[in-house]
Amino acid sequence: MKANTLFDNTETAFQLKSDSQLERAYFLFRMIANEPLVRIGTAATKFALNLHLPVEGLIRSTVFDHFCGGVNEKDCMPVVDHLFNVGVSSVLDYSVEGKEGGEQLDGTLHKILELTDFAETKPAMPFSVFKPTGLGRFELYRKITEKEVLTSEEKEEWKRLVNRFETASKAAYDANVTLLIDAEETWMQDAADNLCEQMMVKYNKERAVVFNTLQCYRWDRLDYLKEQHAKAKAGGYKIGYKIVRGAYLEKENERAEEKGYQTPIHSSKEATDNCFNSVMRYMLENLDDIELFIGTHNEKSNYLAIDMMREMGIARNDSRVWFGQLYGMSDHITFNLATKGYNVAKYIPFGPVKDVMPYLIRRAEENTSVAGQTSRELSLLKKEKERRKI
Ligand SMILES: Cc1cc2nc3c(=O)[nH]c(=O)nc-3n(C[C@H](O)[C@H](O)[C@H](O)COP(=O)(O)OP(=O)(O)OC[C@H]3O[C@@H](n4cnc5c(N)ncnc54)[C@H](O)[C@@H]3O)c2cc1C
Repeated sequence: MKANTLFDNTETAFQLKSDSQLERAYFLFRMIANEPLVRIGTAATKFALNLHLPVEGLIRSTVFDHFCGGVNEKDCMPVVDHLFNVGVSSVLDYSVEGKEGGEQLDGTLHKILELTDFAETKPAMPFSVFKPTGLGRFELYRKITEKEVLTSEEKEEWKRLVNRFETASKAAYDANVTLLIDAEETWMQDAADNLCEQMMVKYNKERAVVFNTLQCYRWDRLDYLKEQHAKAKAGGYKIGYKIVRGAYLEKENERAEEKGYQTPIHSSKEATDNCFNSVMRYMLENLDDIELFIGTHNEKSNYLAIDMMREMGIARNDSRVWFGQLYGMSDHITFNLATKGYNVAKYIPFGPVKDVMPYLIRRAEENTSVAGQTSRELSLLKKEKERRKI
């Protein structure tokens, strides 16, 4: 099979979906493709949840079950096992957002530690993951990023936050699990980047245990990567990055305009794509020092990665190169990569329905704005429905 048709195999892509799950996915992506419907639907859902109206059942049986593994890690286990049977690993992502109290942040840390412990004995789960704001208050990261002076209380709070980062990183190191740390908004990200760097210095001596994330819609990320690479070489440690395009495009541009600073985002989609591909090439060319996790649903970037690996003589299952997609999206990429022997993982979000709503809303909005991708999902689902004669 030629490389550029690999992702067209819908039988492989949807092998884990029953006929009714296939129908639900088709229905869902048709709804999501409708921008006014998504706008009204997200507003109505937020409103209903705030008023404690009984809409959770409806959300669960539609978007939630499609994009999430369940409300707790136990719910996710059948999914994890099914995926692993066909060569796909899992990244269980406790996707509760917007919890900022100390107890809640400690609770998230506790959950990460439990999952890391569990992953130690479960080959299907070679990663643990967290979002920086899962372990600390957004405003605190922002103040440090924007070089504001912290009060003495905030300095104590920051120490607790650093301890949480430290505890999660050490647990991953001890369990021989790789820790992926997500990236968020630029106005808090410098503080998180610096912490990730400290953890890499400490825990990445033999291999990249701690991975940060590079959002390639930022025009400064290739330079940042090169700078981090030089430091790692001088300091004798490895670096690891998940590379993504970036999920906060509109927010970033709006804030930059509102506050009158230069937007940190590339001026076009094409520039973002070029940046993503350059960052990927740089990392693959420097695999002795850098490990990478290619997080994208973009077919061209995935094909390009395959081509680059072949050209550079990198084995498909080289443990330093991983591919990843989100659960409920781009199964045609995930499962077809797995059948060819590439390392590939699904990010599986889980958590109480109400708490994962920000994540679900981002997915709905993203699929609405990425018209090309939604129509690709739809055409593949349709092709598979026809193949199965349903
Ligand atoms: C495994 C995994 C992990 C992820 N982790 C993170 C994370 O930690 N942090 C995070 O922010 N996101 C994360 N994401 C989401 C990711 O950043 C993207 O939002 C999403 O994957 C869509 O990008 P794409 O490469 O898949 O697809 P594409 O459809 O090719 O790209 C869409 C993306 O291109 C960029 N873009 C679109 N229009 C423009 C424009 N006019 N100008 C400039 N850029 C533009 C935006 O980033 C947009 O999201 C993750 C995604 C995956 C698959």
